[in-house]
Amino acid sequence: MTGTRFKDRIALITGASRGIGRATAKLLAAEGAHVLLIGRSQKTLEAVDDEITASGGKATLIPLDLEDGAAIDPLGPSLYERFGRLDIFVGNAGMLGGLRPLNHIPSETWDKVLAVNLTANWRLIRTLDPLLRLSDAGRVVFVTSSRVAAQGRPYWAPYSVSKAGLETLAKTYANEAADSPIKVNLVDPRATATKMRAEAFPGEDPDTIKSPEKVAEVIAELCLPSVTETGQTIEVG
Ligand code: NAP
Repeated sequence: MTGTRFKDRIALITGASRGIGRATAKLLAAEGAHVLLIGRSQKTLEAVDDEITASGGKATLIPLDLEDGAAIDPLGPSLYERFGRLDIFVGNAGMLGGLRPLNHIPSETWDKVLAVNLTANWRLIRTLDPLLRLSDAGRVVFVTSSRVAAQGRPYWAPYSVSKAGLETLAKTYANEAADSPIKVNLVDPRATATKMRAEAFPGEDPDTIKSPEKVAEVIAELCLPSVTETGQTIEVG
């Protein structure tokens, strides 16, 4: 353990198997949270779990394909049975889906990217909101790409449309939760050395851009009970 900022908080992180989600899960666990890790593969989640438990943290693995909406829906009730509340939800999982002009995008790719990057987050809000309302300080952070979402960047359509939708979803939730202690914010990591970044910029030297750990620190700040802002987007410089 390296700190106590999240002592006894229950935190669910999607896309926790690698990259920004993995770094966030490790940081929250190192500072006392019991982290619930979502990713598709049990095996990759186990590797993260091993690292967390080796440093004295607590993790629960939830292997789940976020494309499968029907599998997301029972999550809230089952977490209620086990934990009785949720303090932190980090909606981080995402996929790029390749870079192509609009008229070359396979419809399966379009559906998949929108399902994972956007619809899954709406379904997660729907099933987790009652649990977040049971926390004294529910904190929600979504991970976006603000510039790509706003620019209409050529060849990035499924990803950019999904992130534009995610930003509207997050701000809507922030407004709807304004009568509760829940705070909902977005983080835009900007260039960060992960598998997704390498897919988008294959020639780039990952040592020249920031680490996922740097982004995790910004996400963690927004998960603190002391946070007062809501509906904001924080860019990681
Ligand atoms: P990454 O290393 O590719 O990680 C993506 C994560 O999402 C993995 O844990 C992956 O888990 C999970 N995921 C993907 N599809 C899933 C599905 N169908 N069901 C469940 N989990 C799924 O990418 P990253 O860069 O860390 O991305 C994290 C977030 O940061 C994304 O929302 C991305 O858009 C955003 N972002 C990244 C950058 C950057 O420069 N890296 C910049 C701006 C925004 P499995 O494959 O194990 O299932």
